[in-house]
Amino acid sequence: MIKNELRTLGIDTVTDGTSTGCKWFASGEQIISFSPVDGKTIGQVTASSRKDYNKVLEVAETAKKIWADIPAPKRGEIVRQLGDKLRELKPVLGKLVSYEMGKSYQEGLGEVQEMIDICDFAVGISRQLYGNTIHSERPGHRMYDQYHPLGIVGIITAFNFPVAVWAWNSALALICGNIVIWKPSEKTPLCAIACQHILADILKANKLPEGISSLITGDAEVGRWMTADSRIPLISATGSTRMGRQVAMTVAERLGKTLLELGGNNAIIVTPNADLKMTIIGTVFGAVGTAGQRCTSTRRLIVHESIYDQVRKSLIEAYKQLKIGDPLDTQHHMGPLIDTDAVQIYLNALAKIEEQGGKILVEGGVLEGAGYESGCYVTPVIAEVENHLDIVQEETFAPILYLIKYSGDVHHAIDLQNNVSQGLSSAIMTTNLREAEVFLSQNGSDCGIANVNIGTSGAEIGGAFGGEKDTGGGRESGSDAWKVYMRRQTNTINYTTSLPLAQGIKFDL
Ligand code: NAD
Repeated sequence: MIKNELRTLGIDTVTDGTSTGCKWFASGEQIISFSPVDGKTIGQVTASSRKDYNKVLEVAETAKKIWADIPAPKRGEIVRQLGDKLRELKPVLGKLVSYEMGKSYQEGLGEVQEMIDICDFAVGISRQLYGNTIHSERPGHRMYDQYHPLGIVGIITAFNFPVAVWAWNSALALICGNIVIWKPSEKTPLCAIACQHILADILKANKLPEGISSLITGDAEVGRWMTADSRIPLISATGSTRMGRQVAMTVAERLGKTLLELGGNNAIIVTPNADLKMTIIGTVFGAVGTAGQRCTSTRRLIVHESIYDQVRKSLIEAYKQLKIGDPLDTQHHMGPLIDTDAVQIYLNALAKIEEQGGKILVEGGVLEGAGYESGCYVTPVIAEVENHLDIVQEETFAPILYLIKYSGDVHHAIDLQNNVSQGLSSAIMTTNLREAEVFLSQNGSDCGIANVNIGTSGAEIGGAFGGEKDTGGGRESGSDAWKVYMRRQTNTINYTTSLPLAQGIKFDL
């Protein structure tokens, strides 16, 4: 199904999963990449062994000094070439994303577009790595701060954005003068191999050394080698909160830095002043897009009691229109879950909803028969619940939408929204300015992303992306997120013939 695309991206169906640039090797376990779309094997990848990992680190150590010496705008030029190549390969890479991960082709294209957008953004930032100048308290002294590269940035990514999250991190890390080592999800290794090929070819064409961008593949164990390695000052890790806690502890033990992008439990508040047509579209896209497997997927809808019955009825009607099937067929609204383990987690959650007193309004189930052979297609669910149920407090990475009623004013809805351990994305649907501003105020939403009259999912590259509490506190992509990839240095220069000390301290010899 995807043979031509693989060929265009330079991927063999039996391939090595370790690369220091254009050199490919690997001697670890075998990873089978299978498509949740039709259950077929796409390829077989040899994962990295500990020996391969050490080789990658050796090459990286040499490359990092060379890359850091190249002026930032020239590094930006390489990232510009990456963006251009991605423009050319967008349909091909978008299709591989869709087929290996299972998201719709439109969303696959959107993911590649995000890569292009962050490259454009990073090229501009490569000429804006500003520090401040500071007036010294001492005469004849000048102070400023400047930003230097950290060295090696380790990137660990999740299956659900198999290419964009690498690009968010790499484009910025590279223009900041770092080299990057990527450990992608073991569920989507071919997408990673495709990206590494694209960048490695650009580096080679520009006669840049091996090791500026490297790839290692494998499961959590390979990720642990990175997190424990003090040669890697920054680990940027995207995945579950469970994974993030382990990464944070290991990296903290060696006093390294982390950028954590973890799970969400995102809500939309629907007030009596909401535009209900927009609310329904925003909610359904947020809840069933990527089959509920976005970190920003809408999981909770907190609706005022005065419009609750109307919203419930409209949502049930809208869910009846949904078509589920092959995500490469544009007729379908929702594709499969990533694998049958994810299906089991979805089924367990449905059982828990009922056990814990929730009421299922739109029934779930696993689809069988023609077109559903992979066993990964499920139906999206709506359940009427109370916010405090244990199952509602968890992030179930599947298309399950919780409907929660609130009474009183918007403060009550905000309390419910904030009353979970995660803090990634949030939204309010209202045409009332006061409600919107209360939601955005210091005592409003406690999430990293707070939207008005837009759903919870789908962020633009220009803003910093990330969340608070169990979401990990990291920020990547736009705004000044580039600073995470650099170390700050304060410089004081004395151009006099005396040595006055700060705070007027006297010390004469
Ligand atoms: P996961 O936590 O199972 O795995 C993510 C990555 O971490 C994989 O590459 C895995 O091999 C690696 N890993 C796992 N344990 C590790 C450890 N102890 N040390 C080092 N590496 C380890 O997550 P997943 O199932 O691939 O992805 C889904 C999760 O990712 C969801 O919770 C989702 O919300 C989250 N996510 C968050 C964001 C965000 O920006 N906040 C974006 C995408 C996905």
